[in-house]
Amino acid sequence: MILPKTNRLTAEQLAEVTAIVGAFGCKIQPIVGAVRTIYAIVGDEREELMINRLEGLAFVDRIDRIQSPFKLMDKRSDLATHRIKAGGVTLGEELFVIAGACTIDPKNPNYFYETAAAVKEAGAHVLRGGVWKPRTNPYTFQGDVKSLDILMEASRRTGLPVDTEVMEDAHIKLALDAGVHSLQIGARNALNYSLLRAVGRAIAERDTVVLLKRSIHMGPLNEFISAAEYIAAFGNPNVILCPRGTTPTLDGYRNHPDESITPLLKEKTWAPVVVDPSHSVGKAAYVPAAALAAVAYGADGLCIESHVDPSKGIGDDPKQAITPDMLAKTIRRAKQLWALSRGA
Ligand code: PEP
Ligand code: MN
Repeated sequence: MILPKTNRLTAEQLAEVTAIVGAFGCKIQPIVGAVRTIYAIVGDEREELMINRLEGLAFVDRIDRIQSPFKLMDKRSDLATHRIKAGGVTLGEELFVIAGACTIDPKNPNYFYETAAAVKEAGAHVLRGGVWKPRTNPYTFQGDVKSLDILMEASRRTGLPVDTEVMEDAHIKLALDAGVHSLQIGARNALNYSLLRAVGRAIAERDTVVLLKRSIHMGPLNEFISAAEYIAAFGNPNVILCPRGTTPTLDGYRNHPDESITPLLKEKTWAPVVVDPSHSVGKAAYVPAAALAAVAYGADGLCIESHVDPSKGIGDDPKQAITPDMLAKTIRRAKQLWALSRGA
Protein backbone atom coordinates (compact mmCIF):
# COMPACT_ATOMS: atom_id res chain seq x y z
CA MET A 1 0.00 0.00 0.00
CA ILE A 2 1.48 3.32 -1.09
CA LEU A 3 0.66 6.35 1.08
CA PRO A 4 1.63 9.57 -0.69
CA LYS A 5 2.65 12.77 1.08
CA THR A 6 -0.16 14.65 -0.67
CA ASN A 7 -3.86 13.80 -0.74
CA ARG A 8 -3.48 12.11 -4.11
CA LEU A 9 -0.82 11.44 -6.73
CA THR A 10 -0.59 13.56 -9.85
CA ALA A 11 -0.98 11.78 -13.20
CA GLU A 12 2.84 11.82 -13.67
CA GLN A 13 3.47 10.43 -10.18
CA LEU A 14 0.89 7.70 -10.72
CA ALA A 15 2.56 6.81 -14.02
CA GLU A 16 5.93 6.62 -12.26
CA VAL A 17 4.74 4.24 -9.50
CA THR A 18 2.82 2.16 -12.05
CA ALA A 19 6.01 1.73 -14.08
CA ILE A 20 8.03 0.73 -10.99
CA VAL A 21 5.59 -1.94 -9.79
CA GLY A 22 4.94 -3.07 -13.38
CA ALA A 23 8.60 -4.07 -13.67
CA PHE A 24 7.94 -6.56 -10.84
CA GLY A 25 4.69 -7.93 -12.28
CA CYS A 26 2.41 -5.82 -10.04
CA LYS A 27 -0.35 -3.28 -10.72
CA ILE A 28 -1.64 -0.23 -8.88
CA GLN A 29 -5.22 -0.01 -7.64
CA PRO A 30 -6.17 3.46 -6.31
CA ILE A 31 -8.48 3.40 -3.28
CA VAL A 32 -10.27 6.73 -3.35
CA GLY A 33 -11.31 8.22 0.00
CA ALA A 34 -13.26 11.40 0.76
CA VAL A 35 -10.05 13.28 1.52
CA ARG A 36 -7.11 11.04 0.64
CA THR A 37 -6.40 8.45 -1.99
CA ILE A 38 -4.09 5.54 -1.21
CA TYR A 39 -2.68 3.09 -3.74
CA ALA A 40 -2.78 -0.68 -3.30
CA ILE A 41 -0.03 -2.75 -4.89
CA VAL A 42 -1.77 -5.70 -6.51
CA GLY A 43 0.52 -8.74 -6.85
CA ASP A 44 3.43 -10.13 -4.89
CA GLU A 45 4.67 -7.11 -2.96
CA ARG A 46 7.52 -8.94 -1.22
CA GLU A 47 10.19 -7.77 -3.70
CA GLU A 48 12.58 -5.75 -1.56
CA LEU A 49 13.95 -3.81 -4.53
CA MET A 50 10.47 -2.72 -5.65
CA ILE A 51 9.70 -1.46 -2.13
CA ASN A 52 13.05 0.33 -1.92
CA ARG A 53 12.41 2.07 -5.26
CA LEU A 54 8.97 3.21 -4.10
CA GLU A 55 10.30 4.35 -0.73
CA GLY A 56 12.96 6.33 -2.55
CA LEU A 57 10.37 8.55 -4.28
CA ALA A 58 10.23 12.04 -2.79
CA PHE A 59 6.43 12.18 -3.00
CA VAL A 60 5.89 8.89 -1.13
CA ASP A 61 5.27 9.15 2.63
CA ARG A 62 5.49 5.43 3.38
CA ILE A 63 4.75 1.95 2.13
CA ASP A 64 2.63 -0.35 4.31
CA ARG A 65 3.16 -3.99 3.52
CA ILE A 66 0.19 -6.30 3.78
CA GLN A 67 1.95 -9.52 2.78
CA SER A 68 4.34 -11.12 5.23
CA PRO A 69 8.00 -10.96 4.20
CA PHE A 70 8.49 -14.58 5.30
CA LYS A 71 7.20 -17.27 3.00
CA LEU A 72 7.92 -20.26 5.25
CA MET A 73 7.97 -19.11 8.86
CA ASP A 74 4.75 -17.09 8.63
CA LYS A 75 1.83 -18.38 10.64
CA ARG A 76 -0.28 -18.35 7.46
CA SER A 77 2.22 -20.37 5.41
CA ASP A 78 1.78 -24.01 4.39
CA LEU A 79 4.23 -24.95 7.14
CA ALA A 80 1.86 -23.76 9.86
CA THR A 81 0.99 -27.36 10.69
CA HIS A 82 4.64 -28.44 10.82
CA ARG A 83 5.69 -29.77 14.23
CA ILE A 84 9.25 -29.98 15.49
CA LYS A 85 10.34 -33.00 17.49
CA ALA A 86 13.36 -33.14 19.77
CA GLY A 87 14.30 -35.38 22.67
CA GLY A 88 11.08 -37.37 22.34
CA VAL A 89 8.89 -34.25 22.63
CA THR A 90 6.69 -32.73 19.96
CA LEU A 91 7.10 -29.07 20.71
CA GLY A 92 3.88 -27.41 21.72
CA GLU A 93 2.41 -30.60 23.18
CA GLU A 94 4.27 -30.59 26.48
CA LEU A 95 6.89 -28.44 28.19
CA PHE A 96 10.23 -28.96 26.42
CA VAL A 97 13.49 -28.52 28.33
CA ILE A 98 17.09 -28.15 27.18
CA ALA A 99 19.54 -28.06 30.08
CA GLY A 100 23.21 -28.48 30.83
CA ALA A 101 26.46 -26.62 31.23
CA CYS A 102 27.26 -23.32 29.57
CA THR A 103 30.74 -24.56 28.76
CA ILE A 104 32.20 -28.06 28.89
CA ASP A 105 35.48 -28.10 30.78
CA PRO A 106 37.77 -30.37 28.75
CA LYS A 107 40.12 -30.75 31.72
CA ASN A 108 37.37 -31.98 34.05
CA PRO A 109 34.99 -34.06 31.94
CA ASN A 110 33.42 -35.72 34.99
CA TYR A 111 31.61 -32.52 35.89
CA PHE A 112 29.85 -32.68 32.55
CA TYR A 113 29.07 -36.39 32.81
CA GLU A 114 27.61 -35.87 36.28
CA THR A 115 25.70 -32.80 35.11
CA ALA A 116 24.33 -34.71 32.14
CA ALA A 117 22.99 -37.52 34.33
CA ALA A 118 21.57 -35.03 36.82
CA VAL A 119 19.74 -32.84 34.28
CA LYS A 120 18.25 -35.96 32.72
CA GLU A 121 17.03 -37.02 36.16
CA ALA A 122 15.62 -33.50 36.65
CA GLY A 123 13.53 -33.88 33.49
CA ALA A 124 15.55 -32.35 30.64
CA HIS A 125 14.85 -33.69 27.14
CA VAL A 126 17.98 -32.33 25.43
CA LEU A 127 21.44 -31.89 26.95
CA ARG A 128 23.28 -28.68 26.22
CA GLY A 129 27.01 -28.15 26.47
CA GLY A 130 29.21 -25.48 24.93
CA VAL A 131 32.13 -26.81 22.93
CA TRP A 132 33.06 -23.60 21.08
CA LYS A 133 32.32 -20.39 22.96
CA PRO A 134 31.73 -16.86 21.65
CA ARG A 135 33.46 -14.82 24.35
CA THR A 136 33.31 -11.04 24.63
CA ASN A 137 36.86 -10.98 25.95
CA PRO A 138 39.43 -12.48 23.55
CA TYR A 139 41.65 -13.64 26.42
CA THR A 140 39.03 -15.84 28.10
CA PHE A 141 38.56 -19.56 27.34
CA GLN A 142 37.21 -19.90 23.80
CA GLY A 143 36.20 -23.54 23.99
CA ASP A 144 38.00 -26.62 22.83
CA VAL A 145 37.17 -29.14 20.12
CA LYS A 146 38.09 -31.91 22.62
CA SER A 147 34.84 -31.09 24.40
CA LEU A 148 32.91 -32.43 21.42
CA ASP A 149 33.94 -35.97 22.38
CA ILE A 150 32.86 -35.31 25.96
CA LEU A 151 29.51 -33.98 24.75
CA MET A 152 28.90 -37.07 22.62
CA GLU A 153 30.04 -39.43 25.38
CA ALA A 154 27.54 -37.76 27.73
CA SER A 155 24.90 -38.19 25.05
CA ARG A 156 25.69 -41.93 24.83
CA ARG A 157 25.68 -42.35 28.60
CA THR A 158 22.35 -40.58 29.11
CA GLY A 159 20.63 -41.33 25.82
CA LEU A 160 19.83 -37.61 25.50
CA PRO A 161 20.26 -35.75 22.21
CA VAL A 162 22.61 -32.79 22.49
CA ASP A 163 22.69 -29.09 21.65
CA THR A 164 25.83 -27.06 21.05
CA GLU A 165 26.66 -23.68 19.55
CA VAL A 166 28.36 -23.44 16.16
CA MET A 167 30.05 -20.30 14.89
CA GLU A 168 31.66 -21.32 11.63
CA ASP A 169 31.54 -23.89 8.82
CA ALA A 170 34.12 -26.13 10.45
CA HIS A 171 32.05 -26.33 13.66
CA ILE A 172 28.90 -27.20 11.71
CA LYS A 173 30.60 -30.09 9.96
CA LEU A 174 32.31 -31.43 13.08
CA ALA A 175 29.11 -31.19 15.14
CA LEU A 176 26.92 -32.89 12.53
CA ASP A 177 29.48 -35.61 11.83
CA ALA A 178 29.70 -36.30 15.56
CA GLY A 179 25.90 -36.67 15.78
CA VAL A 180 24.83 -33.39 17.43
CA HIS A 181 21.05 -33.14 17.03
CA SER A 182 20.53 -29.45 17.83
CA LEU A 183 22.77 -26.71 16.48
CA GLN A 184 22.64 -23.48 18.44
CA ILE A 185 23.13 -20.14 16.75
CA GLY A 186 24.08 -17.71 19.48
CA ALA A 187 23.00 -14.16 20.15
CA ARG A 188 26.19 -12.78 18.64
CA ASN A 189 25.71 -14.67 15.38
CA ALA A 190 21.96 -14.52 14.87
CA LEU A 191 22.51 -11.70 12.37
CA ASN A 192 25.39 -13.45 10.61
CA TYR A 193 23.60 -14.28 7.37
CA SER A 194 26.47 -16.36 5.96
CA LEU A 195 26.35 -18.58 9.05
CA LEU A 196 22.54 -18.82 8.88
CA ARG A 197 22.81 -19.91 5.25
CA ALA A 198 25.61 -22.36 6.01
CA VAL A 199 23.55 -23.98 8.78
CA GLY A 200 20.45 -24.11 6.57
CA ARG A 201 22.42 -25.75 3.77
CA ALA A 202 24.10 -28.26 6.10
CA ILE A 203 20.88 -29.48 7.75
CA ALA A 204 18.70 -29.49 4.63
CA GLU A 205 18.60 -33.27 4.30
CA ARG A 206 18.59 -34.08 8.03
CA ASP A 207 16.19 -34.01 10.96
CA THR A 208 18.54 -31.67 12.86
CA VAL A 209 16.94 -28.79 14.74
CA VAL A 210 18.34 -25.30 15.18
CA LEU A 211 18.03 -23.27 18.36
CA LEU A 212 18.19 -19.71 17.07
CA LYS A 213 18.90 -17.19 19.83
CA ARG A 214 17.63 -13.65 19.48
CA SER A 215 20.47 -11.23 18.86
CA ILE A 216 20.74 -8.35 21.30
CA HIS A 217 21.02 -6.17 18.20
CA MET A 218 17.74 -7.29 16.69
CA GLY A 219 15.08 -4.61 16.64
CA PRO A 220 11.73 -5.49 15.10
CA LEU A 221 10.56 -9.06 15.58
CA ASN A 222 10.53 -9.47 11.80
CA GLU A 223 14.33 -9.44 11.93
CA PHE A 224 14.28 -12.45 14.26
CA ILE A 225 11.77 -14.37 12.16
CA SER A 226 13.63 -13.49 8.95
CA ALA A 227 16.79 -14.99 10.44
CA ALA A 228 14.83 -18.24 10.90
CA GLU A 229 13.58 -17.93 7.31
CA TYR A 230 17.21 -17.85 6.10
CA ILE A 231 17.71 -21.33 7.57
CA ALA A 232 14.33 -22.76 6.58
CA ALA A 233 14.75 -21.54 2.99
CA PHE A 234 17.16 -24.45 2.36
CA GLY A 235 14.50 -27.05 3.10
CA ASN A 236 14.62 -27.95 6.81
CA PRO A 237 12.24 -25.73 8.77
CA ASN A 238 13.11 -27.15 12.22
CA VAL A 239 13.98 -23.77 13.68
CA ILE A 240 13.20 -22.95 17.31
CA LEU A 241 13.17 -19.28 18.32
CA CYS A 242 15.00 -18.53 21.55
CA PRO A 243 14.59 -15.14 23.25
CA ARG A 244 17.53 -14.77 25.67
CA GLY A 245 17.42 -11.18 26.82
CA THR A 246 18.13 -8.06 24.88
CA THR A 247 20.26 -4.92 25.39
CA PRO A 248 20.71 -4.36 29.11
CA THR A 249 18.76 -1.48 30.59
CA LEU A 250 18.39 -2.71 34.15
CA ASP A 251 21.04 -2.66 36.84
CA GLY A 252 21.12 -6.18 38.19
CA TYR A 253 20.11 -8.32 35.24
CA ARG A 254 22.71 -9.36 32.67
CA ASN A 255 20.34 -8.56 29.81
CA HIS A 256 16.88 -7.10 29.60
CA PRO A 257 14.45 -10.02 29.99
CA ASP A 258 12.44 -10.48 26.78
CA GLU A 259 10.27 -13.53 27.43
CA SER A 260 7.30 -11.15 27.04
CA ILE A 261 7.82 -11.16 23.25
CA THR A 262 6.59 -14.77 23.13
CA PRO A 263 2.91 -13.96 22.41
CA LEU A 264 3.99 -11.43 19.76
CA LEU A 265 6.15 -14.03 18.01
CA LYS A 266 3.32 -16.52 18.17
CA GLU A 267 1.00 -14.09 16.40
CA LYS A 268 3.39 -13.92 13.46
CA THR A 269 4.99 -17.34 13.19
CA TRP A 270 4.22 -20.99 13.80
CA ALA A 271 7.79 -21.56 15.04
CA PRO A 272 8.06 -22.83 18.61
CA VAL A 273 9.50 -20.48 21.21
CA VAL A 274 11.97 -21.82 23.76
CA VAL A 275 13.10 -19.12 26.18
CA ASP A 276 16.58 -18.99 27.73
CA PRO A 277 16.16 -17.39 31.17
CA SER A 278 19.81 -18.05 32.10
CA HIS A 279 21.40 -15.55 29.71
CA SER A 280 18.47 -13.22 30.13
CA VAL A 281 18.81 -12.50 33.85
CA GLY A 282 22.35 -13.85 34.18
CA LYS A 283 22.26 -14.84 37.84
CA ALA A 284 21.25 -18.24 39.20
CA ALA A 285 19.01 -16.77 41.91
CA TYR A 286 16.76 -15.05 39.34
CA VAL A 287 16.57 -17.91 36.82
CA PRO A 288 13.65 -19.93 38.29
CA ALA A 289 11.30 -16.93 38.33
CA ALA A 290 12.34 -15.90 34.82
CA ALA A 291 11.71 -19.47 33.64
CA LEU A 292 8.20 -19.44 35.07
CA ALA A 293 7.53 -16.02 33.55
CA ALA A 294 8.43 -17.48 30.14
CA VAL A 295 5.96 -20.32 30.57
CA ALA A 296 3.29 -17.86 31.69
CA TYR A 297 3.89 -15.93 28.48
CA GLY A 298 3.24 -19.08 26.47
CA ALA A 299 6.75 -20.38 25.76
CA ASP A 300 6.89 -23.95 24.46
CA GLY A 301 10.04 -24.67 26.38
CA LEU A 302 13.06 -23.52 28.33
CA CYS A 303 16.82 -23.62 27.78
CA ILE A 304 18.51 -23.49 31.17
CA GLU A 305 22.14 -23.62 32.23
CA SER A 306 22.68 -26.13 35.03
CA HIS A 307 25.76 -27.64 36.65
CA VAL A 308 26.28 -30.14 39.47
CA ASP A 309 28.65 -27.72 41.20
CA PRO A 310 28.31 -24.28 39.61
CA SER A 311 31.23 -22.85 41.59
CA LYS A 312 33.55 -25.33 39.84
CA GLY A 313 32.15 -24.64 36.38
CA ILE A 314 33.67 -22.47 33.67
CA GLY A 315 32.18 -19.91 31.25
CA ASP A 316 28.88 -18.59 32.61
CA ASP A 317 28.30 -21.50 34.98
CA PRO A 318 29.68 -20.06 38.25
CA LYS A 319 27.28 -17.11 38.08
CA GLN A 320 24.17 -18.31 36.26
CA ALA A 321 23.96 -22.12 36.29
CA ILE A 322 21.37 -23.51 38.67
CA THR A 323 21.89 -26.81 40.48
CA PRO A 324 20.08 -29.90 39.19
CA ASP A 325 17.90 -29.82 42.34
CA MET A 326 16.78 -26.31 41.52
CA LEU A 327 16.32 -27.34 37.89
CA ALA A 328 14.07 -30.23 38.93
CA LYS A 329 11.99 -27.89 41.12
CA THR A 330 11.75 -25.32 38.34
CA ILE A 331 10.66 -27.93 35.80
CA ARG A 332 8.01 -29.26 38.22
CA ARG A 333 6.63 -25.77 38.78
CA ALA A 334 6.83 -24.90 35.11
CA LYS A 335 4.81 -28.00 34.23
CA GLN A 336 2.15 -27.03 36.77
CA LEU A 337 2.03 -23.54 35.34
CA TRP A 338 1.84 -24.95 31.81
CA ALA A 339 -1.18 -27.05 32.80
CA LEU A 340 -2.74 -24.09 34.60
CA SER A 341 -2.28 -21.60 31.80
CA ARG A 342 -3.08 -23.89 28.88
CA GLY A 343 -5.86 -25.81 30.58
CA ALA A 344 -9.55 -25.22 30.00
C1 PEP B 1 25.32 -19.80 25.57
O1 PEP B 1 24.27 -20.41 25.29
O2 PEP B 1 26.14 -20.20 26.40
C2 PEP B 1 25.52 -18.47 24.94
C3 PEP B 1 26.72 -17.95 24.77
O3 PEP B 1 24.36 -17.91 24.62
P1 PEP B 1 24.02 -16.47 23.95
O4 PEP B 1 24.40 -16.61 22.52
O5 PEP B 1 22.55 -16.34 24.17
O6 PEP B 1 24.83 -15.43 24.69
MN1 MN C 1 26.35 -19.46 28.60
